[in-house]
Amino acid sequence: MEEKEVKVVNTSNEEEHGTNRCPQCGASDVTYSTKKKKLICNYCYTEFEAEEVEGIEKEAKNLEGETRGSGTKDIDKNANDIITLKCSGCGAEVVINTAEATNARCHWCRSILSINAQIDNGAVPDVVLPFALEKKEAQEKITQFVEKRKFFANSTFKKEFTTDNIMGVYFPYMLVDAKAHGKFIGEGEHEVRKYTVKKDDKEETYYDADVYKVEREFDISIDDLTIESNSDRLNKRSKERTNNVINAIMPFDTENCVKYKANYLAGFSSEKRDVNVGNMEEKVDQELKDVARHALNQKIKFYDRGVRWDQEKLDITGKQWVAAYLPVWLYSYQDPGKTLHYVAVNARTGETMGSVPMNKGKLFLITIIIEAIILSLAILTKNTEQFKALSVFLFIALITGPIFYGVKSSKYRNAGARHTYERETKQELTNVIENDKLIDHETELTSSSMLDANNDQIYGEYTKIKEEK
Ligand SMILES: [Zn+2]
Ligand SMILES: [Zn+2]
Repeated sequence: MEEKEVKVVNTSNEEEHGTNRCPQCGASDVTYSTKKKKLICNYCYTEFEAEEVEGIEKEAKNLEGETRGSGTKDIDKNANDIITLKCSGCGAEVVINTAEATNARCHWCRSILSINAQIDNGAVPDVVLPFALEKKEAQEKITQFVEKRKFFANSTFKKEFTTDNIMGVYFPYMLVDAKAHGKFIGEGEHEVRKYTVKKDDKEETYYDADVYKVEREFDISIDDLTIESNSDRLNKRSKERTNNVINAIMPFDTENCVKYKANYLAGFSSEKRDVNVGNMEEKVDQELKDVARHALNQKIKFYDRGVRWDQEKLDITGKQWVAAYLPVWLYSYQDPGKTLHYVAVNARTGETMGSVPMNKGKLFLITIIIEAIILSLAILTKNTEQFKALSVFLFIALITGPIFYGVKSSKYRNAGARHTYERETKQELTNVIENDKLIDHETELTSSSMLDANNDQIYGEYTKIKEEK
């Protein structure tokens, strides 16, 4: 494989690690206020405007070649998480475990010490999206979410539920922008007739369709495809942790990200990135293609029975990687079965998703009662009316129980909740050239849609990240 050229934009602070002093009064206690949505000096109350990060391209359509923020650089496995800083207030040596925090207070003079420059362990990103939702707003969201799911909730959970201990966490993500030229070729079907035919006393529905060769050539720019960059979080199918709910609260308003400063993290928890660009490339390229495929659906509406793409070529001519910390309020609860349940709140949009542990015994019991009621109704019918009704009732009884059970479990567990990046990622299609040709006419089709249509498929979701060798 040819070595590609990558332009690295240095987003690291040039200052040395140590204190970030307030230019007004010299105090080191500058922290982020969720209420004011600003960095603020806790002594003289000077407020600081957030800084824009320089050198990062805002518009995907302006990209040429591959650009990466210096915060995305590969993690050095030998990099030490423990960094010793000399306090400029009193000269003491203070140790920071950068795996957990990039700020620490000097235990002698109370000066706040920060990691300013990027280090090789993935703890310092290029940009940060500060918390906008205050803790009490998040507590309300979480309480509302749980209140709606109390009836079948695990009883210990109901007893212990409190939002006192929710945590504000900055999770690591990669924001990927791309500009690409694409050419998709395949076949599409357009319905021309729908009719019913009587065959052996039965009415059957048939369809006639025109079959076309479909070709779409286009330019596309994709903005801020957002992907988790911590391997634990990327594992959305985990049975021990309901990680998918953290994925499901996307998207974030990533266009409002600002230049990273350790001060934003004071009072919050953070999780450092542990995967590199190289591990994510394959998955990201698949997701970009998914975004393009779904964008193209606006341009193939004539093919109401679907399109089967046989060739999907997407040449990425510009790409940008930016490492970001995005804010989440997190409630967690470990059920007796050792599954870790979360309720997560997007600390920008308030979007809430969660998993509530269930009392499966109670749900099972209620399901049985429902089945029993329907069954007894069926038996009563048998004695009074035609026998035919019995089989209908039996059938209803048989399916009602499992449906009820399934609907309830999914409302509590939300195992299928996910971020629909293929639809929610911002994109712009331009220069679309359509080249279609009628090639066939099919009659008496029994299915209402094209059987092997794949224009709504996604593949990136199921592409695993590459393991480190
Ligand atoms: Zn000050
Ligand atoms: Zn000190």
